[in-house]
Amino acid sequence: MVATSDSPVTQCKGSGMTTHGGSEPVFCTIVPPHVLDKLSQAEDPALAGPARRTLQRDAYERTQRRLTTVLGASAVPAEADGKPQRTIYDARHGTDLPGRKVRGEGEDPGRDATVNRAYAGLGATFELLLTAYQRDSIDGNGLPLDATVHYDRDYNNAFWNGEQMVFGDGDGEIFLDFTIPIDVIGHELVHGVTQYTANLTYFGQPGALNESVSDVFGSLIKQYTLGQTAAEADWLIGAGLLAPRVTGVALRSMKEPGTAYDDDVLGKDPQPASMDDYVRTGRDNGGVHINSGIPNHAFYLAATALGGHAWERAGQVWYDVLTGGELKQQAMFTDFATLTVKAARERFGDGEELDAVSKAWEQVGVRTL
Ligand SMILES: [Zn+2]
Repeated sequence: MVATSDSPVTQCKGSGMTTHGGSEPVFCTIVPPHVLDKLSQAEDPALAGPARRTLQRDAYERTQRRLTTVLGASAVPAEADGKPQRTIYDARHGTDLPGRKVRGEGEDPGRDATVNRAYAGLGATFELLLTAYQRDSIDGNGLPLDATVHYDRDYNNAFWNGEQMVFGDGDGEIFLDFTIPIDVIGHELVHGVTQYTANLTYFGQPGALNESVSDVFGSLIKQYTLGQTAAEADWLIGAGLLAPRVTGVALRSMKEPGTAYDDDVLGKDPQPASMDDYVRTGRDNGGVHINSGIPNHAFYLAATALGGHAWERAGQVWYDVLTGGELKQQAMFTDFATLTVKAARERFGDGEELDAVSKAWEQVGVRTL
């Protein structure tokens, strides 16, 4: 069975652009392949080994997704009742998915902090989508949220595979438990929202927009959970994920792209903050995790210029664009920026929102039409 062009299975895959309107399945990891590539070249086998095995595992999972025929559709009938329907599974360091069920919706927390964090992270994502944007789960129709924890051994990644979330425990040397940063959980689930809405192609600028949208709402989920204003937020993606020996604070910084880490083993954060430093590369699906720094920084600038809770105004504008139906799968930065200006005007009129959004794009060097 081949997915149709409007099927929600086309974006966020691992290897290049589709040429046939997209029947490639979904596979999105939080740690980009270029970071694991670098790590796998470390002299210390204790560092290189887990990175190499993680890359192999990711490649295998990616292939599995390609071989699986029906994707994106949940086997469980959804109940659009405004309540989350979460199930957490434990892979017990194996790789069979989903693994053994360890916590269902409404069940009390157990002893495993990883299970509890995954459950809470799915809940926080569900809650922001519902309360801020009246969206019932990631598909807008009550999709049950499944996650597997303790995937594989020393697995240095987390991913959304089009059907569920999967979390590794990290190798403890470079990466810690991937359920620690709630924005990482949010980031991955929001790939699901994109999959069901604008379905941005996971390559080049549309791919960087796809990544950026996940960072934006991942960060907003963290800010919402902590009750933070734009001024109080850290605007980091993956804070708490890097082990103490790593010189760095997170995977990415929306406030100062390019400054999240600078480490002997991991290398330096390659993100640009503006079009002046746009990176042309064939790696990382045409730099999807690299050039996402530019729209990320635009959102940060708009949100902090407006102040208050970033999900209420800047977040609403971005959400309107993502879900409004005008954003094309192949959208470039300029297309996205132009639609945010339009959305700001439609939602809030000719006020400070329009001004903040327009100026933010100008500051990062993205033209609006
Ligand atoms: Zn991603």
